[in-house]
Amino acid sequence: MRTLAIIGSGPAGFYTAEAALKAMGDDIRIDIIDRLPTPYGLIRAGVAPDHQSIKAVSRRYDAVAKDPRVCFVGHVTVGKDVSIAELLDLYDDVVLATGAPHDRPLGIPGEELAGVMGSSAFVGWYNGHPDHAALAPPLDAETAVIIGNGNVAIDCARILAKTVQELQDSDIVNHALDPLSRSSIRAIHIMGRRGPHQASFTLKEVGELGELERATPLVRTEDFPPADADSTLETGQRRVVEVLRRYAGQGPDKSRPVTISLDFFLRPLRILGDGRVEAIELMRTRLDDEGRAVDTGETLTLPCGLVVSAIGYRTDPIPDVPFDERLGRFANEDGLIRPGLWCVGWARRGPTGTIGTNRPDGIAMAERIAGTPERHAADQPGDSAENRARKGLDALLTARGIEPTCFSDWQRLDAAEVARARAGAPREKIVTLDEMRALVAGEAQA
Ligand SMILES: Cc1cc2nc3c(=O)[nH]c(=O)nc-3n(C[C@H](O)[C@H](O)[C@H](O)COP(=O)(O)OP(=O)(O)OC[C@H]3O[C@@H](n4cnc5c(N)ncnc54)[C@H](O)[C@@H]3O)c2cc1C
Repeated sequence: MRTLAIIGSGPAGFYTAEAALKAMGDDIRIDIIDRLPTPYGLIRAGVAPDHQSIKAVSRRYDAVAKDPRVCFVGHVTVGKDVSIAELLDLYDDVVLATGAPHDRPLGIPGEELAGVMGSSAFVGWYNGHPDHAALAPPLDAETAVIIGNGNVAIDCARILAKTVQELQDSDIVNHALDPLSRSSIRAIHIMGRRGPHQASFTLKEVGELGELERATPLVRTEDFPPADADSTLETGQRRVVEVLRRYAGQGPDKSRPVTISLDFFLRPLRILGDGRVEAIELMRTRLDDEGRAVDTGETLTLPCGLVVSAIGYRTDPIPDVPFDERLGRFANEDGLIRPGLWCVGWARRGPTGTIGTNRPDGIAMAERIAGTPERHAADQPGDSAENRARKGLDALLTARGIEPTCFSDWQRLDAAEVARARAGAPREKIVTLDEMRALVAGEAQA
């Protein structure tokens, strides 16, 4: 019997579990441990609330969680409640699938001002992540700036731009929908250091900007290279650029009060303000012969009351796990950290790729584990490996006064969220750990 502790219940954790069940059949027991009582990682707390069809992938993960060989252990933070050494003692293999929850800093003066925040916090706020439920981003200014040229930047802009009616059937939490309904923001700027050819947007996200009820996308014609340069792009990027060119040709639509400007060739220099953000100073850039952004020397200042940086993420280090500071993820060789300790998904490769990218990653991880001898194979003949792992973890947590939650607890939370949803919405999320704990404890008593 092989025992596996997977730390993190996002896509990487679930795809690894799914593949391990397939690769090792009846000879495997898997505990999926998450710091939250709610599973699914960024599917719940990152993917945009108005993209419900993408969130539906969690149904596939449910099938894994309900498998009798799998146990979901929620509300346990590895590295704090239980150490890596303790887990390695109990389980044959420990797989870190902890994602990359921290924003990469901008590294410019003024970043600490109120009203400047990372996309992880901003997205976590509107998605009801307990860490960010109390964020209260300022929405009382006319202008918001979002730094970054990827889909997360577009998600943030779209949520700021949509009407309440457009968000009604999403699972955006009410604590975000209410203030957004009173938002004064009318000019939203998405900024990138390079041009339309280099942007990391995908077609669906760019296309949606043109379908908003009260917002128009704006792009400067002079930011594009000559049209024949588009033929050098691969198909996906060429289509994105086609849509951006269409937006550039359209110009502002006076019937729509909100603008989303895709501002290329700008680099943030510093954020200005007295206590809170009042403006951002920018350097205009251009591409050098190698395709890198270089300064032109021309600077400009844009008044704004909210700055969201969406320039990438870093993994949260865990004590005694080697960390690659430069890349912001666990130091690993093809997923192996040291014998018995592995990493997968964003914790392995950094914050790149889609949900689907984590599937081959999980399959490769499970195959590597299956092909490696069990570390505890000869240990403790009197006790089964399964018991050693499960009972051992339970004993450790009980001794520390930690009450883990299980998958049926999540199912109760899920049902409670669905039951209290506003009209048309799939759920109203519970956003504090206290409320989650109380609900689970109350249900258990009942
Ligand atoms: C804002 C945003 C929007 C996105 N939208 C899309 C989209 O529309 N489509 C798409 O294909 N991809 C999207 N992605 C990318 C996708 O979400 C990622 O590819 C995927 O979630 C990465 O999976 P993961 O399992 O590595 O990490 P995560 O999904 O982050 O899961 C990590 C899990 O580990 C847990 N954890 C962390 N630390 C600990 C610890 N110490 N102890 C216990 N548990 C811990 C966390 O609670 C979390 O549940 C988006 C990403 C972001 C940030």
